[in-house]
Amino acid sequence: MNTKRTKIVDLLNSGKVGEKIVVKGWVRAFRSNRFIQLNDGSTIKNIQAVVDFESFDEELLRKVTTGAALSIAGILVESQGAGQAIEVKVDTLEVLGAAHPEDVQKTVMQPKKHSLEFLREQAHLRFRTNTFSAVFRIRHAVAFAIHKYFNDQGFFYLHTPIITGSDAEGAGEMFRVTNLDALNPPLNEDGTVNYKEDFFGKSVNLTVSGQLEAELAATALGQVYTFGPTFRAENSNTSRHLAEFWMIEPEVAFNDLTENMNLTEDFLKYICQYVLDNCADDLQFLNDRDATEQQQKPQNERNELALIDRLKFVINNDFKRLTYTEAIEVLLNSSHYKKKKFKYDVKWGIDLQSEHERYLVEKEFKCPVILSDYPKEIKAFYMRQNDDQKTVAAMDVLFPGIGEIVGGSQREERMEVLKAKCKDFDIDEKELWWYLDTRKFGTVPHAGFGLGFERMIMFVTGMTNIRDVIPFPRTPQNAEF
Ligand code: ATP
Ligand code: MN
Repeated sequence: MNTKRTKIVDLLNSGKVGEKIVVKGWVRAFRSNRFIQLNDGSTIKNIQAVVDFESFDEELLRKVTTGAALSIAGILVESQGAGQAIEVKVDTLEVLGAAHPEDVQKTVMQPKKHSLEFLREQAHLRFRTNTFSAVFRIRHAVAFAIHKYFNDQGFFYLHTPIITGSDAEGAGEMFRVTNLDALNPPLNEDGTVNYKEDFFGKSVNLTVSGQLEAELAATALGQVYTFGPTFRAENSNTSRHLAEFWMIEPEVAFNDLTENMNLTEDFLKYICQYVLDNCADDLQFLNDRDATEQQQKPQNERNELALIDRLKFVINNDFKRLTYTEAIEVLLNSSHYKKKKFKYDVKWGIDLQSEHERYLVEKEFKCPVILSDYPKEIKAFYMRQNDDQKTVAAMDVLFPGIGEIVGGSQREERMEVLKAKCKDFDIDEKELWWYLDTRKFGTVPHAGFGLGFERMIMFVTGMTNIRDVIPFPRTPQNAEF
């Protein structure tokens, strides 16, 4: 007998009545001692397997319980019931791995509605639920779409280091990497730790961004992108921050800020279109899930559009582009501001708070927004100084329900200006000699941005907590699994 399994996705798409098949998966439900709902993760859909219980050992059927793993050999037949075109008439059934009902009862596998918090506590089992299998299949599809997009556009995928010796990346608190004895580290005469004796002969950290290295490659290969893990020890326990997340950072020689914005907008639209085209079943499930969630919110907090319509909206509408200075004007003129509804004050020079960004996106413009030309003091040292001497060629993309999803800029390509900026930001030029070197040998305008992968996944799945779009979230006080 042919024992090679056919995946459920293939059976449902192209299985023929009369075909003999083997299917393997996990039991989602077993009803009337007759109908097995089997799922193998290849699709959100189950296949129904029908057992003629009179011809099967009772002892064996008792082990067919929710969560158990089965191998079923049988024949594809037209389904009598509603909801599926074909089903499997079971010839032989083997329990590959049992799941005791008493144990299953305590888990997320028990078929009923569970809170996302409870699901997070069982991150090792939440893959077995429809919601999380859908999220993680889409997460895969988006990762693939990103590589495809850049490959099709002639970008080169660049692997930048995860352990970094530069602490000038300027994007937040870093995690130190060391193999020194924590109880008895070598000390300098002044009592500080002597990192010269550490593994790399210096103090090193986990990367907060691959951008500086990507710039080096972009000024030779032309256009590159990174896609790797990123670490920030920021103690912000929000629904949008992880200590370990994934970031995509394209960097393009000869691009200015406008071209950078065009690339970002095209790229984000492509991802949305890819998910619509390739993840229909999972997206429909999450769309309905999101609709139910929205129903439970107060009227004024509900999304006007359903998830699928939100993706279409992004694809079909131009992003609203305006400068930081214009955005401050908009905020100051808003009734929201006049009625003192913002918690944080608004004036030129502030770092916009999440409430300000969300107001612009969700209340004022009701579409994705690209803000540009921020005050130089609140942005990184490498961003290109504008002629007004006060602002830099920065851009942030703000998405409804998410806030900032992309941060980018045109980079400062002029050596003297860059050196002056290092001084202003108290960055030691000697530490960054390799970065400054690019400005010495054929320097060119160039630009790039960073997309937070998980924030994008939040947008396309409708999940509202970033912990629910990464398999094993790392957040303050939490590194279980
Ligand atoms: P935020 O203000 O939201 O903390 P940031 O300004 O620190 O973001 P950047 O340094 O510009 O962000 O990083 C680029 C992108 O990486 C952000 O637009 C966001 O999508 C994502 N990102 C940044 N920090 C985190 C984090 N802690 N967890 C998940 N994604 C993040
Ligand atoms: Mn941050």
